[in-house]
Amino acid sequence: MKKVITTLLLFLVFLIIGLPVLLTRACGPSTGGTPPEVVDRDPIASPAGEVTINVFLHESTELVEMPLEEYLVGVVAAEMPASFAVEALKAQAVGARTYTVNQMLSFGGKGCFKHAGADICTDSTHCQAWESEEKSLGKWSSEEAAGYLNKIRTAVRDTAGKVITHNGKLIDSLFHSNCGGHTENSEDVWSASLPYLRGIPCSYCAGSRWYETKHEFSGVEFADAIVPYVSALPVSAAGRPLLATAVRSDTGRIKSILIAGEPVTGRDLRTALALPSTNVTWEVTDDKVVFMAKGYGHGVGMCQYGADGMATENKTYEEIIHYYYTDVEVSDIPMN
Ligand SMILES: [Zn+2]
Ligand SMILES: [Zn+2]
Repeated sequence: MKKVITTLLLFLVFLIIGLPVLLTRACGPSTGGTPPEVVDRDPIASPAGEVTINVFLHESTELVEMPLEEYLVGVVAAEMPASFAVEALKAQAVGARTYTVNQMLSFGGKGCFKHAGADICTDSTHCQAWESEEKSLGKWSSEEAAGYLNKIRTAVRDTAGKVITHNGKLIDSLFHSNCGGHTENSEDVWSASLPYLRGIPCSYCAGSRWYETKHEFSGVEFADAIVPYVSALPVSAAGRPLLATAVRSDTGRIKSILIAGEPVTGRDLRTALALPSTNVTWEVTDDKVVFMAKGYGHGVGMCQYGADGMATENKTYEEIIHYYYTDVEVSDIPMN
């Protein structure tokens, strides 16, 4: 009897401990959580039908034809952090689609004038940033990669065919990284005053990366950087940086500043010192100048960090677009 009980006990111990171990081994390594996500490669259908675009890849110097919506996945991946909320990614997708369609030869656009036959190139300083799926997947960690790509594909898919218009015309859908608290009127950065690119207050990017940053330069560093933009030495004999009154836009961005008595544009100041924006104040000590910068980028149009802030507060992509672009509509791609 005792032997039977012992055998039964041993069998029970095996059932409780041994069997699950064996089963787990048989099924391969267990992560204990949900299985890793796979990339959703379903084609992205657009209500506008099968629109294709000729893209000049500036790194490999090839002209490639691809479906418009698939091209936009690579644009969103290149232009906005994939960690941002999906409604922000959707707003970015609609803005990118608007810019792209505006440029496409088949929609009456001018195409990329650097490369014959191309609607657009992937050089961000000329047309619009874009990266291949391979590059996107490579820049994200292996745990995040598939999920990030799927999130971007969802953002493009859920807004397929949507563009931003003002009075029935596609807008110039400018955006920047972080406005630092207030976006800028287009004419305060460039010459054209566009009715939908008005400066608006933005509290949604407050506290995020780039909202407020500090940049310190020694007298020598400052002089070296500024010398190409002025004719006089930009520091005093003692090495003290010579900075004086700035002309600012209503939102505080520097239009021009006096350096050693000479006017230097805010844009040149930003370029020379690699400052994140022209919205800066400074403090000069005997041999140092410290700039406090607000925001990152030109400040016109959609604030990306603000868009993420709005999305985190459950605002939709349409609300984000209507907030940053004045008097616009989210419409379908105009049919030819
Ligand atoms: Zn181009
Ligand atoms: Zn902002």
